[in-house]
Amino acid sequence: MSSYADIILPLALPKRTYTYSIPESILDIVKPGVRVEIQFGRTKVYSGLVEKVHNTAPDYKVKPIVSVLDQVTVVSPEQFKLWNWLAEYYCCSLGEVMAAALPGHMKLSSETRIVRNEAYGDDFSSLNPDEYLIAEALHIQEEISVDDARKILNKKTVFPVIQSLINYGVLFLREDLQEKFKAKKISAIRLGEPFASKRELLKEVFAELQKKERQLEILMSFLVLEKEEPFVRKFALLQKADVSDSSLRTMIKKGIFEQYDQDVSRLGGYEDELAEADVLSTQQSVALVEIEKQLHEKDVVLLHGVTGSGKTRVYLELIKKVMEEGGQVLYLLPEIALTSQMISRLQKTLGNEIAVYHSKINTNERVEVWKAAFSGKPVMLAARSGLFLPFTKLKLVIVDEEHDPSFKQFDPAPRYHARDTAIYLANLYGAKVVLGTATPSLETWQNAQTGKYGLVDMPERFGGLNLPEISTVDLRQQLKSGLMKSVFSTPLLENIEGAIADKKQVILFQNRRGYAPMLECQVCGWNAECKNCDVSLTYHKQTNRLRCHYCGYTESPASTCPACGSGKIVLKGFGTEKIEDELKLFLPNARIGRMDLDTAGSKSGLSAILNDFEECRVDVLVGTQMVTKGLDFENVAYVGVLGADGLIKFPDFRSGERTFQLLTQVAGRAGRKHEQGRVQIQAFDPDHPIIKEVLKGDYKAFAERELKERFEFKYPPFYRLIQISIRHKDPEKVKIAAAFFGRTLREKLGERVLGPVIPNIARVRSYFGQDILVKLEKSTSVISAAKNLIKHTSELAIGKTGFSQLIVVIDVDPM
Ligand code: ADP
Ligand code: ZN
Ligand code: ZN
Repeated sequence: MSSYADIILPLALPKRTYTYSIPESILDIVKPGVRVEIQFGRTKVYSGLVEKVHNTAPDYKVKPIVSVLDQVTVVSPEQFKLWNWLAEYYCCSLGEVMAAALPGHMKLSSETRIVRNEAYGDDFSSLNPDEYLIAEALHIQEEISVDDARKILNKKTVFPVIQSLINYGVLFLREDLQEKFKAKKISAIRLGEPFASKRELLKEVFAELQKKERQLEILMSFLVLEKEEPFVRKFALLQKADVSDSSLRTMIKKGIFEQYDQDVSRLGGYEDELAEADVLSTQQSVALVEIEKQLHEKDVVLLHGVTGSGKTRVYLELIKKVMEEGGQVLYLLPEIALTSQMISRLQKTLGNEIAVYHSKINTNERVEVWKAAFSGKPVMLAARSGLFLPFTKLKLVIVDEEHDPSFKQFDPAPRYHARDTAIYLANLYGAKVVLGTATPSLETWQNAQTGKYGLVDMPERFGGLNLPEISTVDLRQQLKSGLMKSVFSTPLLENIEGAIADKKQVILFQNRRGYAPMLECQVCGWNAECKNCDVSLTYHKQTNRLRCHYCGYTESPASTCPACGSGKIVLKGFGTEKIEDELKLFLPNARIGRMDLDTAGSKSGLSAILNDFEECRVDVLVGTQMVTKGLDFENVAYVGVLGADGLIKFPDFRSGERTFQLLTQVAGRAGRKHEQGRVQIQAFDPDHPIIKEVLKGDYKAFAERELKERFEFKYPPFYRLIQISIRHKDPEKVKIAAAFFGRTLREKLGERVLGPVIPNIARVRSYFGQDILVKLEKSTSVISAAKNLIKHTSELAIGKTGFSQLIVVIDVDPM
């Protein structure tokens, strides 16, 4: 029997695992993959995960395991391997991976944890900045600890903030070490005795009810529903009978019916009739055969299909085949594309074989999906966190819209890319991977060009439709000739009007939310900046507040300049809110909707907007990049891009790639079903090569040109990047630490090290930053040596006296 256990704690700790002794009484139930309760530090209790049991006593006094939380293993050997790979590859701790991988209910701790109260909703407008930060953090993470809260606020005491949030009902605490999951119960109705066992007695009831129309209606409806459903929901019964609760109550009193609680799964059972999948088009059949052929030889195939080519239908066929063989499929989508539209498209043919997993589902639903994955549910439709589900027989991973930057987790660690992780995950299970997109990332494209991945093309739209006709509007000319109305050029406005007159719909894309991104004094040039970050505050008209998009800080807009006292303060620039507003002036009869983080931040907000658009209750949908992602609305005839210049000029080596992808994807929303769509892109520089390539729909030309530049300037996919961002509240300390970092890395890595430099935004959330970029040739030994050096240097830097508050963020393959 082994008497020691190595345990992973869900924390960012320097050691991989920590050793504890196993008391006699639980010797036989402590094994790898179960959770145990352990004490860490003097007072804190956590649930940790046993990685290994052994007999090697460490050379320090160990504490005993307090208790065992699981009878069966909750993490499989494959999951352990995935976690280890993530920690290694992305330079983070195993504990950080554990924290990301396990759903909240599996990370119990006596350290007070705060949980978001779903019932409160997501209107945080009445909160003060500190409360807002915590509420927002909870909105994203669903559950954080008081310590996290302390870090977020960067304050010693957070209890007052937490207390007031509790008083408002924004969150509640979860302190105990007990699992709280309960199956959802609904009210159901069944026949009372003796009628349930002696059906013939119902005749008398019928006779008796002849004059009681409502009760009769209920009884008849019950008999119908009973045949259709496994059990009869009270709600469904009342709806079908179209009567009030009181008649039913009378019948329950009489003993004809009884009411009981029925456990139901929260997976959102699909209740409509299933439909046969559409017949494959020739292009789709050919692609399918080709994908299957190439998957015999390669582990990964790129399906490069233009927007509207019908890639989803091809995935569906691949999924069905895996299901026939009893395997599991993980279908990954960017969070925002996981709309009810997408889900119901797949449910229509696959019904309840699908489980859905993303950040907006609640803890209880998470538990169910987790269990479903473990028991072999065939299809998991998920955002990137779906990678962590406990699959048992994974055979295929589909990464839809593989180019989408939101597949990369930005914060906190592990800063992983879901596409790349999916490829590793598939490998662990001997599963295959299909990457699909109209605009491949250059990494994937290069892998397909060199033959590392297979490549299958679908160059035509489904139904032989032409791709939308894309043209540009030269803003310089429009301005010169006085043809601009606010930010709208004459052709843009005319086309919007034309589309609406034809009873068609329009999408307008502007890559900024809020009303105006800047409040500026015309006399002295002062502009409203965040007090925590070096950025301009964005004016939000709806709330009449200036808001920082980096830290959430808000204030009310000044009416006189705080610098010079002048009253000439103007709003500059355009966000989606202003576009919506101004469009109403020019097209007073149009019904305009808006889709951005402010309106679609919640699951319900988003689905309401999409519903309105789908049902044609909205003519023009104005939105940020959200509108570019996978939407399939057949009535959209025209797409307008307000300004392409900002996208191209964004200072990042990927801005060209992003621009091509965004413009092509948003253009792809037009003319998807009936007739060719039209797209217009307003730009001050319409002759820019990227715009020309978008106009021609020439992905290959774009990729070739861009790849040449990437090679020349030593960027991915030819080189690997690691970005190190060093932060401290004291700008002097950042400078010292960054210089130390630069020197130490340069000693070993030489010219591969760039910086330190002050980033475009020098200060965020009161932290000053400096960045170092490391460019590494693709040699395994160089890369792993560099990662070790970076980790080691980071420990050294934080270990220096006076530098314990230093934050070092290591981002491998930054986006
Ligand atoms: P993509 O994901 O490649 O942009 P979609 O899968 O959204 O394209 O398909 C575009 C449109 O064509 C959708 O409205 C879809 O319902 C329709 N479609 C695709 N394949 C078929 C088919 N085989 N039969 C009927 N309609 C199809
Ligand atoms: Zn001024
Ligand atoms: Zn800020």
